Amino acid sequence: HLDRIAEVDDELHAFLHVSSQEALAAAAEVDRSLDQGQAPTSPLAGVPLALKDVFATTDAPTTCGSKILEGWMSPYNATVTERLKAAGIPILGKTNMDEFAMGSSTENSAYGVTRNPWDTSRIPGGSGGGSAAALASYSAPLAIGTDTGGSIRQPAAVTATVGVKPTYGTVSRYGLVACASSLDQGGPCGRTVLDTALLHSVIAGYDPRDSTSLDLPVPDVVGAARAGAAHDLSGVRVGVVTELQGEGYQPGVLESFTAAVQTLRDRGAEVVEVSCPSFTSALSAYYLILPSEVSSNLARFDGMRYGLRVGDDGTHSADEVMALTREAGFGPEVKRRIMIGTYALSAGYYDAYYGQAQKVRTLIARDFEAAFQNVDVLVSPTTPTTAFPIGEKVDDPLAMYLFDLCTLPVNLAGTCAMSVPSGLSSDDGLPVGLQIMAPAMADERLYRVGASYE
Ligand code: GLN
Repeated sequence: HLDRIAEVDDELHAFLHVSSQEALAAAAEVDRSLDQGQAPTSPLAGVPLALKDVFATTDAPTTCGSKILEGWMSPYNATVTERLKAAGIPILGKTNMDEFAMGSSTENSAYGVTRNPWDTSRIPGGSGGGSAAALASYSAPLAIGTDTGGSIRQPAAVTATVGVKPTYGTVSRYGLVACASSLDQGGPCGRTVLDTALLHSVIAGYDPRDSTSLDLPVPDVVGAARAGAAHDLSGVRVGVVTELQGEGYQPGVLESFTAAVQTLRDRGAEVVEVSCPSFTSALSAYYLILPSEVSSNLARFDGMRYGLRVGDDGTHSADEVMALTREAGFGPEVKRRIMIGTYALSAGYYDAYYGQAQKVRTLIARDFEAAFQNVDVLVSPTTPTTAFPIGEKVDDPLAMYLFDLCTLPVNLAGTCAMSVPSGLSSDDGLPVGLQIMAPAMADERLYRVGASYE
């Protein structure tokens, strides 16, 4: 895989940092323990992985795709990083991402764009485009992403890979640099449903260092993925979400989705149409709640505690140094969201914007609850279109935000979802993803249905 990275990554730019020596040392350690007759520490011992550059690592820089953290070394590892190491998984390097996970195309990285291996003039999705491009280019067999509004599922869809946003609270956020804390969730990415399940079971589990971590047993995702290999969905009820199709969706995407639903039916599932009326407000609610949390979380980048410091020459006050550092260190999308969030949280506007968005969030959770009274899983396309050309939406934030239409409701409700490849669009020959959604703590259903469909 290191050879493959050397071969393709100059063009793709999936990686911000390649940890050749650390990865080889970790692999040698696995070989050594096996040679000594010890049992592998996990089924994935020795299988390398690409890590999104938003997880803290002590042996490689953590930049979050931002200039403000250029060269910053964390003094501790994220829980996810620790779990990967304990499982004997060599970390090949840190992958490119939209700055602080804000974006849908990986064009907001301060370190340049990542290209989609299917068509290098197009985006690999975002914010975790680096991890998805590493998988799709065979630079890594496994990857880790984070999904705050779709950043695992949406890159998976446009690169024909598998990505899962686990139930909120099941993968520790300790050492995951915060974007929007009530939405952020780390998750596994792979090229097959079973690979993804194996990785899921390595990273999930209770962590007392994360105050929102759930102290509950991890669903048996590996067993479910293996059961799915029988391709038998009899007794499973699948709901097609009325609101996540139709106008604004590319014909090739809808065609692929219709074919995917037919496959589920052919494999024995009972398919019904389900309406979730509040999903149409998810975009407006998300783009108020997320910036509000961002404006608070990113206050810590003050030029004092981490990374970049500008104007520290004795002629500026502390306030000026903070302002100069943030001016130079943050990119335009991060600044836009900090300003929107600060405004939405201001006295006099709080109830009208943030308070209202939180009410919509409750309605979306209720739509899911009502739907799951009648069906085991919900399905939709993962994205309304296939990968768009690099540069096409970069100056049009609203067009960019619309690319997240299908993935946002799951984050707002704290439920779980998977994107699994569903063939190539007849419009442009590019990959399309099928999104499968399940109730909180029923992540195993994603794997059962995903593997049955695959
Ligand atoms: N594209 C969404 C955004 O820009 C989602 C990002 C994410 O999941 N990290 O906020």
